[in-house]
Amino acid sequence: MFQVPVIDVTNEQAIFEGEGFDAVVVVTPKLADVAQQEISLLAAHAQQIDKRVGQQATLLFAPGLAGGRLVIAPVKNIGDYTDVRVYATAAKEGINIAKEAGANKPLLVVAHSQEERFKFASQVAALACGQALWQPLETREAKQLTAPLTGIGLLVSDPQADLINALEAGRLLARDLCGTDPERMSAINFAEYCVESFKDSGLEVEVVDDKQTLLTEYPLLSAVGRSSFDVERHHPRVVKLAYTGEGEITRTLLFAGKGVVYDTGGADIKIAGGMAGMSRDKGGAAAVAGLMKTLALLKPKGIKVIAQLGLVRNSIGSEAFVTDEIITSHAGTRVRIGNTDAEGRLVLTDLLSHLREQAINATAPSLFSVATLTGHVVRAYGGYTALVENVVAKQQKVAEKLYQAGQQWAEPFEVSHLRPEDFEKVADKNGAADVISSNNAPSSITARGHQYPAAFLLKASGLDKHGLNHNIPLSFTHIDIAGSATEGDPLYGKPTAQPLVALLQFAVS
Ligand SMILES: [Zn+2]
Repeated sequence: MFQVPVIDVTNEQAIFEGEGFDAVVVVTPKLADVAQQEISLLAAHAQQIDKRVGQQATLLFAPGLAGGRLVIAPVKNIGDYTDVRVYATAAKEGINIAKEAGANKPLLVVAHSQEERFKFASQVAALACGQALWQPLETREAKQLTAPLTGIGLLVSDPQADLINALEAGRLLARDLCGTDPERMSAINFAEYCVESFKDSGLEVEVVDDKQTLLTEYPLLSAVGRSSFDVERHHPRVVKLAYTGEGEITRTLLFAGKGVVYDTGGADIKIAGGMAGMSRDKGGAAAVAGLMKTLALLKPKGIKVIAQLGLVRNSIGSEAFVTDEIITSHAGTRVRIGNTDAEGRLVLTDLLSHLREQAINATAPSLFSVATLTGHVVRAYGGYTALVENVVAKQQKVAEKLYQAGQQWAEPFEVSHLRPEDFEKVADKNGAADVISSNNAPSSITARGHQYPAAFLLKASGLDKHGLNHNIPLSFTHIDIAGSATEGDPLYGKPTAQPLVALLQFAVS
């Protein structure tokens, strides 16, 4: 077990002694606002000899406090446009100092302002500790690492640990699935890792591994994986997951996750060093798997959540699919391949078509695709996640609700809009196919490069027919996480598991 459990602490006395805590980590924008006078007094004294106290994260010798250690992690740069992520940044610095100082069980004290935007600062700070303490699965397996701390106390007035621990369990799974090298986390191994993680979880789990079934049921996904069929251990997989809450089901959420375990670009091969880091092209499937883990632990009532993860390696070889080919999707749409490096939308199309069939008979369905889809979203929005919704989702304010949840839980979104031009862009030029998957230039230099793929997904999956005037309108929101799936180093940075927390909040709201 690598997860560090968060423990609710409702008794302030724990700051001094008891319950085995051996450091106090204070996260606050203003030392004077810390309710525990002993802490603000200690900090005020320390400031007289060290001007860094309150300016940057520092460790103070604090006899009388748990473990004799007081870490002050100041929340900096709060302005009109700041959101709760500043608390996450401070908490990461604070927990790292406590760990490096030798603490095994720190107590986190978050003293935040009462502003609405910082309402969940304590929970966000606790989640940030999990992010800060994560180590890559390869490292853990090679060095047999165990959890870096025995626990983290969180001083709260209402219990939060069940929620935070369930979220962190999901985030840990998502980071491991996303961040691991393409052989250790091949499609087959990704599927097995899911099966193992969901053993005894109560989730329904099914892995599609039969080649003929993949070819028939997931023709576009199989085209992406055509070259990978040459190598047994690189074969594609589809993982189907379902969570059914207790009681009467009043909502159904359906997720398609892009799990391209390695993306060479295919015949449109990535050149000039552009391939490194492409084992992270599975962040969408990873985040959805993580969300299912969190749901299985929290067991929210009254909702059903269905997921399909498309796991495939976009290899290059003599069998590789090429541009100009016309392939019929699971929905019966004839798709011309515009660029083999625009493979994620092909994988999602078949998954969404299967989910569409399930959504038709479901109670109050909302469909989603989650994917590291385009370079354009990174160019347009930097590290932010984009939401692109169809007209039905817009009427139901899906993106607006997700946006609000993201703001409050440190997983911010940008909302993009579908326009008529996006549908014109995916019309096949000579009419031989129903739709073309993409143009043949990098998305980062293509106008509307992250919006128009949503038009493609709608048309190729058959969801476009379920508009406002259909007797079964279907809500669909495409989520592009290419800019937010990892943080730090652009190629090998730490996976973030975004937007798992915001999706969970949306699911249970
Ligand atoms: Zn690609």
